[in-house]
Amino acid sequence: MKFSFSKDEIDFRNEVVTFLEQNLTERLRAGSRASPSVFAEPDIAREWQEILAQKGWYNYYWPVENGGQGWSATQKYIYEKELALADAPSLPVMGVKLLGPILCHYGTAWQKAEYLPKILSGEHFWCQGFSEPGAGSDLASLKTRARREGDKYVINGSKIWTTQAHHATHIFCLVRTDASGPRQEGISFLLLDMDQPGIEVRPIHSLAGDHEVNQVFFDDAVTSVDNLVGVEGQGWEVAKFLLSNERMGTSRAPKYLADIARVRRLAGGAPNGREGLLGADAFFARELDELELDAKALEVLELRILSDNANGCLKRELVSVSKLLGSNMRQKIDKAALKVSANAGVQLEAQRPLYGNSAPAPIFNKEAQLAAPTYLNSRAWTIFGGTNEIQKTLIARELLSK
Ligand SMILES: Cc1cc2nc3c(=O)[nH]c(=O)nc-3n(C[C@H](O)[C@H](O)[C@H](O)COP(=O)(O)OP(=O)(O)OC[C@H]3O[C@@H](n4cnc5c(N)ncnc54)[C@H](O)[C@@H]3O)c2cc1C
Repeated sequence: MKFSFSKDEIDFRNEVVTFLEQNLTERLRAGSRASPSVFAEPDIAREWQEILAQKGWYNYYWPVENGGQGWSATQKYIYEKELALADAPSLPVMGVKLLGPILCHYGTAWQKAEYLPKILSGEHFWCQGFSEPGAGSDLASLKTRARREGDKYVINGSKIWTTQAHHATHIFCLVRTDASGPRQEGISFLLLDMDQPGIEVRPIHSLAGDHEVNQVFFDDAVTSVDNLVGVEGQGWEVAKFLLSNERMGTSRAPKYLADIARVRRLAGGAPNGREGLLGADAFFARELDELELDAKALEVLELRILSDNANGCLKRELVSVSKLLGSNMRQKIDKAALKVSANAGVQLEAQRPLYGNSAPAPIFNKEAQLAAPTYLNSRAWTIFGGTNEIQKTLIARELLSK
């Protein structure tokens, strides 16, 4: 099988590469490389977001009428691949990728005019309030209540694992507006301002030393009925639309392949603990070879998903296959990187960020300083966006039983 790009696609790739050379500064690249978490730290994320928004490339996948680029599947792939290869900061998805398309699809004219421009400008920073202490995989069991009082909703309850809620100005939530019928009915999708007395954010520190997630408490928090997205009681439909976008992800394989190549390079000079070099260790070389083959296979799957989606014939279960394989692969690559650092990798730096003038100095070298936080942080890959077990159930139900 041979993949090749058309002349227009090659021109487009050159345009992306030139843009990156001119706009993605070494400070941003270095910050991105030294971010052990899924999303880059807010300072470099904000800076990079502004640059992309100015170019019109921050919300490239929105519908054209809402400011999207109308790119083909191949263009999206080329764009995401070049950004990954250039070490562009990984931007939080909650506003632009999760809420943006929802508002484009279900939002009222007022919601679109009020919120979409502020997502792009960065004035609003959104977090996602779906999971609760008793509702994760089984999301429909959520209990946070919203009761209608005149022209507003009053919200009580709690959300958990809320990524970057401590930076957020706004939260989109699934809430129960009616508990009398079947569980999926009676759920509504609301937008809330975080800056109000009825909302409290408490940090949850991860085993990697990061503060990424939080628990959010609502104690008579309020929002206007203008902030109901879709129809009251039909928020489950909105949530399903959002979850399918969330699980779609972006093209991960190009970044994985670049990371595997980096691990291979580092292994060339790393001791294997038996007076030799890890790079010459046949078992380790085989581990990396297998990972590389898997990443190449994932790339083909990601291309197929992009193309099927563009042609309107995407089987959602394939997205589950890609999420399952991609999450496992991410963890294996980070484990291989930890092996390269060997004993030097057994240091857990809790201070963030790990770049810039105030970054703690590495005890051994930068790669070793990043190895353990990255490895530990990536444990979450098989949980968020739908756990491995849930993906396997979806695959078994939809692909294997037909
Ligand atoms: C780093 C991180 C960031 C997150 N960010 C957000 C966020 O911003 N907003 C948000 O709303 N949520 C967020 N989440 C929450 C995430 O969506 C949930 O953790 C996930 O859906 C799993 O739910 P749970 O934690 O309640 O685990 P549970 O659903 O309780 O699952 C516990 C275990 O049981 C297994 N299990 C559950 N049900 C089944 C089943 N039917 N069959 C087989 N096995 C099953 C699971 O696979 C898992 O291994 C985040 C989570 C993490 C780790």
